[in-house]
Amino acid sequence: MKQILVRSFIRFKSSLPPLSTLEKFNFRVSTHTINQVNENIDEYLNQPIVLNGHLNRKPRLMAKNSFAEIRDSSGNSVQLIFRPESTGEKHFQTIESSMVEESCSVEGLVKLKETRDGSKQWELLVTNYQRLNESNLDAARLENLKHTNPQDLPPHFRYLQLRSKKYQDNLKIRSKLSNLIRSTFIESHDFTEIETPLLFKSTPEGAREFLVPTRSSNLFYALPQSPQQYKQILMSSGFTRYFQLAKCFRDEDLRADRQPEFTQVDLEMSFVSSSDQVQIVVEDVIYQVFNKGAELPMYIVNEKGNLIELKNFNNDKTQFTKLTYQDALSKYGIDKPDLRFDLAFKNLSAYFTNNNEDFPIVEACVLKQGLVDGKIPKALTDSLNYNRRKPFVIGIKKPADIKWYRKFVEKGILTLRGEETAIDNFLSVEVGDIVAFSDRMEIPYENPTPLGKFRQLAISEYDNKWQRPIETSEGLIDEYDASKVFVGSWVVDFPLFNPTDVSNGDEAYPSYDKSNFESTHHPFTMVKTEDYKKLSSDPLAAHGEHYDLVVNGVEVGGGSRRVHDAKLQQFIFEEILGIENYRQLFGHLLDALSMGCPPHAGLAIGFDRLCAMVVGSSSIRDVIAFPKNQSGVDMVVESPTSVDEKVLKEYFIKSL
Ligand code: ASP
Repeated sequence: MKQILVRSFIRFKSSLPPLSTLEKFNFRVSTHTINQVNENIDEYLNQPIVLNGHLNRKPRLMAKNSFAEIRDSSGNSVQLIFRPESTGEKHFQTIESSMVEESCSVEGLVKLKETRDGSKQWELLVTNYQRLNESNLDAARLENLKHTNPQDLPPHFRYLQLRSKKYQDNLKIRSKLSNLIRSTFIESHDFTEIETPLLFKSTPEGAREFLVPTRSSNLFYALPQSPQQYKQILMSSGFTRYFQLAKCFRDEDLRADRQPEFTQVDLEMSFVSSSDQVQIVVEDVIYQVFNKGAELPMYIVNEKGNLIELKNFNNDKTQFTKLTYQDALSKYGIDKPDLRFDLAFKNLSAYFTNNNEDFPIVEACVLKQGLVDGKIPKALTDSLNYNRRKPFVIGIKKPADIKWYRKFVEKGILTLRGEETAIDNFLSVEVGDIVAFSDRMEIPYENPTPLGKFRQLAISEYDNKWQRPIETSEGLIDEYDASKVFVGSWVVDFPLFNPTDVSNGDEAYPSYDKSNFESTHHPFTMVKTEDYKKLSSDPLAAHGEHYDLVVNGVEVGGGSRRVHDAKLQQFIFEEILGIENYRQLFGHLLDALSMGCPPHAGLAIGFDRLCAMVVGSSSIRDVIAFPKNQSGVDMVVESPTSVDEKVLKEYFIKSL
């Protein structure tokens, strides 16, 4: 034990706060929550109760009755009434000096409140008000913002933001969902929750990693980008069903709604012979989260292209809509299509030859009656909305425009292959429509394609116009609130490898080095059995046993069957991906595979994104207590910080 040195003579810089400070530690604990009383006002009328919380509104002091408002942990608030005869002079003095957001314990009687609209509400006639801790002017100045837009409170006061109902509710839903997910895995599917280390090893897995220096020269840990390798090693450790709510770290571009640390619902199963076995468990988890956790029904797309509600989880077969990568890209131009909306593309390659041979597929997206006041909405054509070329977008304003393609044939952009009438019949364009067309590669590595981007813009621009009808036993429902409808789908059959993108970034068309490959997801994904031989003959043509879980255009999760044969895994590292030091990087995994590791497969769900969807937010910051800002800074504790030269030296780090 380290000895604690007691200083015999102490000279303080400030004086010890007065003994009365101890009063803050001695108070009456709440007997009820505001919610409890809200639910049954009659039961509590004229009863004494104690509430603990924060002063939600500045006290209004009047000659007879004075008012304030308390908010408790439910995020709900109730009016406090102070009357000299019931509250007593002493408490009056306290409330006079009160500041909004101070914490307090309030005793009083539940009274009916007079309301203008006649609704039943209550207030608390205060008999005892105790301040438990003062607040300060900063909090008082922010009072208005707190009531209108709590997310706009200064980020270094995140704790004030979090006190608002929005964040209290969001984080409570998050907690409820993690509980539901745990019980679904453990109780319904016999999984074991296992924690894996956060101090991991530097190994390439896609994104840039965070390094952790040690006090040994040039020795580093790395924070895990995901528990991928540990969970595969667990499969070699005799566990057949593993899951965890895992913290993961990626040192990536934070501009999109991303965080450098985030949470995954991570799972892995061994002795599985098909991807469906993993997908069935995941469908149950997702079904529970939406249906039970959030009481939001889930939908799938039926063979007629309509949405139907998923009434039950099925233990024997997958039910979510399944589409291949190629289908997703050729119909919707993206590997995570929002299936609430239809708007599928039409392939025009039978009618036109594209003059750019590397991008031979010509396809169109028609927005029926999409012209707004005779014009094309600007968002659909604004170059800023496209990272490469934008599609040609044509408004069909008069009958002659139905032959929109003639102009492009004249300009030499397209060459006509078929009869004009055949094209007209195929597209059946009318005055009032918008036609957008673009080109793509046979296997579209561009993702989204230009037309895919156009479709996304059209969906958000027209506010629910293109949604699929919901099919019920009573008929079709065309009009509904799409933000309350969740469509679950799987995207499968991805190319196992991509050629390396060697474009500068500002050209209209991307260029690829087809002799250098990258894993589309990660190097541990198994090839589709029928494509096995392509691994040595034409790796780019091989498809992987990868599956993405997509809900409403958001990639909620992804996973795969894994390579469990050490020799095959080595071949992929060495021969296909050209990783020369694969032994040093992945030797631990190859060793674990080579000791009888069973066949296995798994998946990870982005838990923050899932929670954001459930609470109806587009930002994961709304469901994370202490998110970093877009520069990776935690504004509350002000990290990262610099450290002393002396400390750096211990870690063998030199600052430049
Ligand atoms: N580890 C993968 C990821 O983080 C998911 C998986 O394949 O299970 O994306």
